Amino acid sequence: MSDCLFCKIIAGEIPSLKVYEDDYVLAFLDINPVKAGHTLVVPKNHAADVSQSSNEDLAQVMGVVRKIAPKIQETVGGDGFNLMTNVGEAAGQSVFHTHFHIIPRFKDDGLPMWPHDGATDEERVALAEKIKENL
Ligand code: 5GP
Ligand code: ZN
Repeated sequence: MSDCLFCKIIAGEIPSLKVYEDDYVLAFLDINPVKAGHTLVVPKNHAADVSQSSNEDLAQVMGVVRKIAPKIQETVGGDGFNLMTNVGEAAGQSVFHTHFHIIPRFKDDGLPMWPHDGATDEERVALAEKIKENL
């Protein structure tokens, strides 16, 4: 897509700090890292988010993630990493080209963990049923 920022990065029209590239996948450093080594991994085929990308493209991306994420962690001396993707503005997605964030984590690095919303067992049981019916 010509007006897509990550398509422009893939095409080399916008510079990026590439750390890995093959025929299907590009990985480059995030311009505004949460932690050192924060990397974005994107399929070269454009789709708005993970719900739109093909299984084949996602498999290629995951293959690369599994290969490079432990090495990125090692490079920055991390103790772990978060792998995440945002879908939709409400979830924090700002670039609408499928991408996964690899965010190295460090012991006691001060980033907050997810808060818990709370739900009764009854609510959870009812919700599990509702979701299954909707699949
Ligand atoms: P999202 O919020 O959509 O999950 O993530 C988009 C990410 O892209 C953000 O972490 C943001 O810092 C990063 N980003 C936005 N523009 C650029 C850019 O021009 N170059 C690079 N390398 N990263 C970008
Ligand atoms: Zn794109």
